[in-house]
Amino acid sequence: MDFELNDDQKAFADMASQFARDKLMPMAAEWDEQQTFPKQILAEAGELGFLSLYTPEQAGGLALSRLDASLIFEQLAMGCTSTTAFMTIHNMVTWMVGSFGTQAAIESYCPKLISGEWLGSYCLTEPNAGSDAAALTTSAKLTEQGYVLNGAKVFISGAGDTDVLVVMARTGEAGAKGISAFIVPADSQGISYGRKEPKMGWNSQPTRSISFDNVVVPVENLLGEEGQGFTFAMKGLDGGRINIATCSVGTAQQALNQATQYLKERKQFGQPLAQFQALQFKLADMATELVAARQMVRLAASKLDQGSSDATAYCAMAKRYATDIGFAVCDQALQLYGGYGYIKEYPMERYFRDVRVHQILEGTNEIMRMIVARRLLQEGAQLL
Ligand SMILES: Cc1cc2nc3c(=O)[nH]c(=O)nc-3n(C[C@H](O)[C@H](O)[C@H](O)COP(=O)(O)OP(=O)(O)OC[C@H]3O[C@@H](n4cnc5c(N)ncnc54)[C@H](O)[C@@H]3O)c2cc1C
Repeated sequence: MDFELNDDQKAFADMASQFARDKLMPMAAEWDEQQTFPKQILAEAGELGFLSLYTPEQAGGLALSRLDASLIFEQLAMGCTSTTAFMTIHNMVTWMVGSFGTQAAIESYCPKLISGEWLGSYCLTEPNAGSDAAALTTSAKLTEQGYVLNGAKVFISGAGDTDVLVVMARTGEAGAKGISAFIVPADSQGISYGRKEPKMGWNSQPTRSISFDNVVVPVENLLGEEGQGFTFAMKGLDGGRINIATCSVGTAQQALNQATQYLKERKQFGQPLAQFQALQFKLADMATELVAARQMVRLAASKLDQGSSDATAYCAMAKRYATDIGFAVCDQALQLYGGYGYIKEYPMERYFRDVRVHQILEGTNEIMRMIVARRLLQEGAQLL
């Protein structure tokens, strides 16, 4: 067991850190304030391979491990949480197309998704199927023209500004086994988008609902076979949960770094705040919990890379723990700034707003507990 990063991993992380410092951090507050979706910067991220980190090599991706991808996303999240979170969703889409798409679909979609010329959205949630995603009702009926989609999705990241949708829709029986996954061009006839949702955070990426009204999708855009869609969607989310957890860790690390510096500079009662032991202990606890969260995320990523049978439970544990700790650390960092933490001159309030949603999406943290408990209660299963 080796906890040190190897030379390649250090090089990836350094490259991501530089991109975060040069391209993301200087603009993050403005993107948040003006709700700008930075497509040009995403294309630059694509040039560096950040949009296809674990997409298979035969589809044109970098085929990195989930652990390596996590090291990269952590550094990127230190520059802009919201934009990095979108990159993680895009990576999930590119990976699904590259892993389960037909050769024709891979050739049509992967090059542009990988370069960032096209951006992707992952479309699972529906108005009446959120946590209970397997209850989704968007239908896909096979006809002579292809599959015809009808229904609605909500809370879709990037929707309205992306080019490719991976849509989970029902082709068969009720429940998970009746669900299939499709690649749908975002400008297909019959697709309409709702308003751009006003949100607490994640403002550098739009969130919209989508309606499908007799949308025809070519048969070769089916991922895998009919009935495999929910399995693919959940496989995508195992990695997605590591990524979102990583975004919390990176943001919280940035908040902790800045708060530590602030305590050295800000004076009250005639001395720097850093001299007060109560605040030193606060920093120590924040750092300790953050390191624990990071290690749990990396362990889960490594389980996924090894194809361990308990990987899903580890991904759920890591997502629950790291997003809760990430939020708590950002909250405490804001507190350490006093009143300045609450105003927009400093980024603490943005960090706090941006990481909050990580406890809700890609499966809420209550659902993460359900996944872990299910594994614990399974006959003969253990979590070691
Ligand atoms: C900004 C944003 C971006 C998003 N992006 C995407 C996206 O790109 N693609 C996509 O498909 N979805 C996306 N989502 C949707 C997100 O994944 C869902 O909001 C989430 O899964 C929860 O579903 P819900 O909102 O319907 O809540 P509900 O399922 O209605 O849950 C409400 C509450 O009840 C709890 N709850 C539900 N069932 C149980 C249970 N059995 N036991 C205990 N507690 C339970 C939940 O944890 C939650 O606290 C996004 C959401 C947001 C806010």
